[in-house]
Amino acid sequence: AKELGKNNCQFYAHEMNASLEEKLALMEGLRRAVDESQLRLLYQPKVDLVTGRVFGVEALVRWQHPERGMVRPDQFIPLAEESGMIVAIGEWVLREACRQARSWQDAGLPPISMSVNVSPRQFDDRRLVGRVAAALAEAGLDARWLELEVTESLIMRDVQQAVDKMRELETMGIALSIDDFGTGYSSLAALKSFPISRLKIDKSFVRDLAHSTDDQAIARAIISLSHQLQMRVIAEGVETEQQREFLAQYGCDEMQGYLFSKPVPPDDIGAMLALRMLA
Ligand code: C2E
Ligand code: CA
Ligand code: CA
Ligand code: CA
Repeated sequence: AKELGKNNCQFYAHEMNASLEEKLALMEGLRRAVDESQLRLLYQPKVDLVTGRVFGVEALVRWQHPERGMVRPDQFIPLAEESGMIVAIGEWVLREACRQARSWQDAGLPPISMSVNVSPRQFDDRRLVGRVAAALAEAGLDARWLELEVTESLIMRDVQQAVDKMRELETMGIALSIDDFGTGYSSLAALKSFPISRLKIDKSFVRDLAHSTDDQAIARAIISLSHQLQMRVIAEGVETEQQREFLAQYGCDEMQGYLFSKPVPPDDIGAMLALRMLA
């Protein structure tokens, strides 16, 4: 058994080396990605469940790697967060998203809200508020069209600090929403002190909505909680008509997911908004 244990250790050590090398290679590449314009944004529509209209989009970053092709964020955002590179990446995302939102408006399309994900390290950075203001000013975008998504676990780490920073952003006219709601451990008492306009039901509760009575109960509880706190509520990861029907029936306000559209390049959003004007 001892021998086996030792072999296992060697096996794991080997695996760790491989992934460490892999990590270093990715990190090295990521450093260049921002400067060499290898990052792209895709946009996923957010739809009003009552009117069926696209009222906003979420910006989702992709890395167009010269050799690996399109790298998904799950493969580099955690690394970027760990290394601190997320601050530079996040700033690029913010500026590009604001620029794009303004560019649709300039094309005469109906204005929509632009949601940008903010990671813990980016949120903690004391330059965040200034950088958000600068991105808006540079793009010429009114703050009311920008929404920042922060995760439930992020804001619950240090409630007072999060409340203070979010109030500052809210004062600028920016909307705030809580992402992945239901996966963290929210203090319900704390929740009401945050200036939040929207809760986002995590997709893990949406996936089995048609079959799991537990998930149905959770979804209904989050919808009811949101409404009691005068917030809107959106469900992410909506893939089937059945899920949409459940959510609509429970009074969920909005949805996002493959059922309506996967994340797409900016021109596709332009086309959707143009169609909306004709409807
Ligand atoms: P998230 O913020 O929870 O984003 C939702 C994820 O669900 C996105 O994955 C989206 O493509 C995916 N999704 C949308 N509809 C469906 C659906 O119907 N079914 C399923 N199964 N998935 C769906 P994506 O684009 O791979 O992003 C993954 C995560 O990476 C995001 O999760 C977010 O945490 C992070 N991320 C993406 N872009 C950024 C960014 O610009 N900054 C930061 N800090 N994080 C980002
Ligand atoms: Ca998000
Ligand atoms: Ca989410
Ligand atoms: Ca998530």
